[in-house]
Amino acid sequence: MKDTLTIALSKGRIFEETMPLLKSAGIEALDDPETSRKLILDTNHENIKLVIIRATDVPVYVQYGAADLGVTGKDVLMEHGGEGLYEMLDLQIAKCKLMTAGFADRPLPEGQIKVATKFVNCTRDYFAKQGRQIEIIKLYGSMELAPIVGLADIIVDVVQTGGTLKANGLVPLEHMADISSRMIVNTASMKMKHQKLKKLLDQLKDAVDQK
Ligand code: AMP
Repeated sequence: MKDTLTIALSKGRIFEETMPLLKSAGIEALDDPETSRKLILDTNHENIKLVIIRATDVPVYVQYGAADLGVTGKDVLMEHGGEGLYEMLDLQIAKCKLMTAGFADRPLPEGQIKVATKFVNCTRDYFAKQGRQIEIIKLYGSMELAPIVGLADIIVDVVQTGGTLKANGLVPLEHMADISSRMIVNTASMKMKHQKLKKLLDQLKDAVDQK
């Protein structure tokens, strides 16, 4: 509907770090997704709703216009490809790095290397640009285990403190990209609801700049 705004968010860190920014723009959730099982949360504005979905689904909802806006990590966005949406604002939250990681003392094999990751597209692009041959092993989580059990030579994952790698005897190797959460907007919504969206994006930008 033309006068409503739907914002897609994932639970946890992105929700917690986005809500103070939305609050600066006068938007507050009336429920907490950690305690409520509702998938659509009302806000203090009758015509603004929050949909709480998996992080990797946020660009898909925005691409198809099921949500006008969404907050998603740059890693998720790169993996999605960005079709049907605009990346409007770096919210400077949930910062980390996309990295390769492996054993410090184990040289990589000559020729093709095995890379375990859930970031299949980012990994393919990164190694293709360097002309390096890889076999990608798609996993959905716990990538750190793959080199330990011999499933892969290295992994590609997001790293914040490096603590998870260290706890599993791995070290960060190559820095592939800096990651933070981005505000994305459906391309059709940007035209149809331009004034509303522009106002909200300007308020959010001010809130980010003041942090
Ligand atoms: P750390 O041990 O601090 O390096 O954190 C690494 C783990 O936390 C990774 O395996 C990720 O699953 C997760 N993680 C850290 N930062 C982020 C982020 N900004 N977005 C998504 N996952 C993250």
